[in-house]
Amino acid sequence: MSDAELLVELLEGKLRPVETALAEAWWETSTHASPEAAARRERIELERRELLANADAFAAIRAAQRQAHGYDPLLARQLDLLHDAFAPHQVPADLRQRLVELEVAVETTFNTFRGEMDGQRVDDNAIADVLRSSDDSRERRAAWEASKQVGAEVADSVRELARLRNEAAQRLGYRDHFALALATSELDEERLFATLDEVDRATAGPFAEWKARLDVALAGRFGCEADDLRPWHLDDPFFQDPPISGAVDLDPLFADADVEALTVRTYDGLGLDMRSVLSRSDLYSRDGKSQHAFCIHIDREGDVRVLCNVEPNERWTETMLHEFGHAAYDRELDPSLPWLLREPAHALTTEGVAMLCGRLAREPRWLTDVAGVSAEDVDGLAARLAEARRAALLVFARWVLVMTHFERGLYADPDADHDTRWWDLVERFQRVRRPEGRHAPDWAAKIHLTVAPVYYQNYLYGELVASQLQATLEARAGGIVGRSEAGHLLVDDVFRPGASLRWDQLVERATGEPLTATHLARQLTD
Ligand SMILES: [Zn+2]
Repeated sequence: MSDAELLVELLEGKLRPVETALAEAWWETSTHASPEAAARRERIELERRELLANADAFAAIRAAQRQAHGYDPLLARQLDLLHDAFAPHQVPADLRQRLVELEVAVETTFNTFRGEMDGQRVDDNAIADVLRSSDDSRERRAAWEASKQVGAEVADSVRELARLRNEAAQRLGYRDHFALALATSELDEERLFATLDEVDRATAGPFAEWKARLDVALAGRFGCEADDLRPWHLDDPFFQDPPISGAVDLDPLFADADVEALTVRTYDGLGLDMRSVLSRSDLYSRDGKSQHAFCIHIDREGDVRVLCNVEPNERWTETMLHEFGHAAYDRELDPSLPWLLREPAHALTTEGVAMLCGRLAREPRWLTDVAGVSAEDVDGLAARLAEARRAALLVFARWVLVMTHFERGLYADPDADHDTRWWDLVERFQRVRRPEGRHAPDWAAKIHLTVAPVYYQNYLYGELVASQLQATLEARAGGIVGRSEAGHLLVDDVFRPGASLRWDQLVERATGEPLTATHLARQLTD
């Protein structure tokens, strides 16, 4: 064995048990929140970061990388991934400790905090119900404000986190944490913002037109002028999704749906059996449980689990299909790959696959063949469904523009007036007017800034990957729903290689061209 091989084997041996224990602790705190579980997770997280902070190991990785020319590609690839894992952690122990403590504290607040509406504590689903169904502007405003209260609770800590993350990044010679996070996740900042500009140009016109029509409909519904519309007149507190009145309300179709069964049937149609994942998952709402949704691969040996808070509606159906897209990817990683490479090529490839699967909930073909909706009903909906798919893409793209620009600015100067900056970006990209005199840290209510910093760009790249894969699967397998050929293509060309290829190479190999916004733009004009 060469020195490089020994080094990789040694580091895998250290990282593997800690990563597995951390995944288990993460699952525990998300499903059964308790001070003990939080303490356990904090301890393991700290242990992991201490490992990754080892300066001698980092120096050895860099030395091995410098001699990588003659290496087996899988060995070189493992060294690159080790480098990117270790680099962000080359910071002093006291700073590391403060970061972990603060992150866990803020996240615990997110898991346990419930906003107040008319003196009642309400969870996110209750707030969503009001914003979904109420015609009373006063009640809607109260619900929207309740959704933002967590922001005021955590804002100071989120700014402090940004300062600490910057301090760590600057010690390593990066401009700030934003620059470090992109550089160590195989993303180029210049290319990212060029892509954001491309997406801005492709969506600005169609979005403005769509939003103007939405505002007319909303003004009619709420009996006001379009100028009087405020964020609480939209169904989503952050306007990440189009409101029902601007799209198609599919909820009646899902009111009696067995969302689990629909999920299994969808993946059966692709030749992917997801029952073992289902049996390990935690799918329904409870006190003391995370209100979000995620998929986690505990051991990289096939123990894949999904957390959801399923209700029989369109949103949770889409979320289930999305999370099980991540799960399918994790389950089908080539088990013979070295452990370090036995994960998706990149966050943006697994998001792309998950988004591709989530989109199925609005496909006519899926609605008839999987959800069992009659062909007449789906025919009647088809034109509006196409419009709804387009609206969902537009609204989401505009929202990511807000998040990514906001986050770059947050790290550029954590002490700036982000309350104002946030609403400047929301007005510019989402065309939603700020409430008069509002001066509150509404941005801090977005949990991603705390638990998944500098991650949002992956969702936009994910949309681009989804659109590009969709075009490939249509051309080569005739579509996705009920096409086992499509499942085979995904498994062979996207899932199995794991992280043995860089994401940009994987995308190009699987689709025949580098990642581009072209396919997304085409879906907006179709
Ligand atoms: Zn996802």
